[in-house]
Amino acid sequence: MKRRDYMKLSAAMPACAISAAASAAATGENPKGGSASFSLDIPVKYDTDVFVAGGGPAGAAAAVAAAESGADVYLAENLSCFGGMGTSALVPVFMQMTDGINFLAAGFGSRVKKMLDSEKSFSGGAHDIEALKRVYDGLAEKSGAKFSFCTKVIGAKASGGKIDYAVCSGLGGIFAAKAKVFIDATGNGDLAYMAGAEYEKGGKNGGMMPGSLCSMWCSIDWKKWRANRPDMPQPQSFKVREAFEAGVFSFYDPHMTGILEIGDGLGGGNIGHAFGVDGTDEDSVTRALLHCRKSMREYKNYYNKYLPGFENAKVAATGSAMGIRETRRFVGDYVLNIDDYMKRAVFDDEIGRYAYPIDIHPSGFKGGELEKHRMEFDRLYKYAKGESYGIPYRILTPKGFSNLYVAGRCASMDRLVHGSLRVMPGCFIMGQAAGIGASIAAASKASVHEIDTRELQKKLIKFGAYLPNFKA
Ligand SMILES: Cc1cc2nc3c(=O)[nH]c(=O)nc-3n(C[C@H](O)[C@H](O)[C@H](O)COP(=O)(O)OP(=O)(O)OC[C@H]3O[C@@H](n4cnc5c(N)ncnc54)[C@H](O)[C@@H]3O)c2cc1C
Repeated sequence: MKRRDYMKLSAAMPACAISAAASAAATGENPKGGSASFSLDIPVKYDTDVFVAGGGPAGAAAAVAAAESGADVYLAENLSCFGGMGTSALVPVFMQMTDGINFLAAGFGSRVKKMLDSEKSFSGGAHDIEALKRVYDGLAEKSGAKFSFCTKVIGAKASGGKIDYAVCSGLGGIFAAKAKVFIDATGNGDLAYMAGAEYEKGGKNGGMMPGSLCSMWCSIDWKKWRANRPDMPQPQSFKVREAFEAGVFSFYDPHMTGILEIGDGLGGGNIGHAFGVDGTDEDSVTRALLHCRKSMREYKNYYNKYLPGFENAKVAATGSAMGIRETRRFVGDYVLNIDDYMKRAVFDDEIGRYAYPIDIHPSGFKGGELEKHRMEFDRLYKYAKGESYGIPYRILTPKGFSNLYVAGRCASMDRLVHGSLRVMPGCFIMGQAAGIGASIAAASKASVHEIDTRELQKKLIKFGAYLPNFKA
């Protein structure tokens, strides 16, 4: 867009204009071809207590919790609905919300579950994704939080360890969103990255879990499948080797989560991997999407030929967003680590507890990786019923910034714990705590590193959170 044209658009916005040097607009980490800079006068469209970047499980929980705690909230979501991976990327199911006895994702998670159970139109165990979208919409609207879809955070203006405003690109043009406190719930941590916060990415050698493009399938005879394999609702990977050797697959990927029953012949597929994808690089994600969409034909042939009940199965849709499991983890006041996980740690500043095993999808299958993953997932890191680990508040507060939270997949944890806490119920727990924490920091003008965590815990309990170690 020419600057002249943009100025016409921005003039229509009833807000004062500020000048944003938008040099932080690019999120790529390896610029090719030097650099360029530009600056624009942009309107301040929002000036709120709390700004939330991203409306996935963490961001939706954060916005609702902050608004219900009395904060004036604005959330910017890049895609067309709340829910992140669980809606736009068609991830078909929530991992465990409980430890087998206690409901750990209590608060936002229990509301989502209750509303989804009453709203869904299908009988299977996997998500009715349309219902899930409505559930998030309803919770956000009722909370009073302001939000817009189709709005991407493309820059951050920060100085002296404080974010002044986020630069957003909406359908009507580029604008600034000012706030007292910012919450980054973008999964990749785009806002924190653009503000200059410290982070780690993947393993020691930079390797990250593969991504997957989830899919929706129709014309499945679930009755026939269950009658043939009552022991195996999913995964359906037991004949992958045979199919690979018969030439049905052009690649060998034995780690398949499978297609889960939504109902009425429908299934939600979490199948196939894009190895080596970097979710913070659009070229890499583009290649991954192309690969995964092509490979759906091979999966269709596999299911049709080898699996009873799937003879007529067809791919009805693939996710509009690439499924990304792992990118940046921002370094906070505390890094939740594997020792904490192993000892089922309890923290004074606990904001919740969680229990899903460590689930790190291998980044390739050269020898023994799948067996190692299964051994870790099923035995080494598996908790008994009623066991869980504590999540301290300090993993939400990145070092060096007084008014920034990171919640969800990008919070401060080591790679192993990330393999557990990254799933959606874990993100609900972190999101609601960041939201209430932000409302406290905004009201008291305190740094996020210094808020009264006992006040936060009391407010979390009022919101419905599970905090068994809090002593009144
Ligand atoms: C293939 C796959 C299968 C999985 N299976 C399961 C499962 O079975 N059960 C489970 O519980 N979890 C599962 N997970 C994990 C889980 O879905 C994610 O880790 C979780 O959704 C992360 O939540 P989040 O809120 O941190 O980020 P996300 O869900 O990624 O949400 C981030 C949101 O921020 C938006 N956003 C991103 N950048 C910007 C920006 N710059 N400006 C504005 N908005 C932005 C995105 O559009 C998105 O809506 C799976 C993940 C993948 C990829």
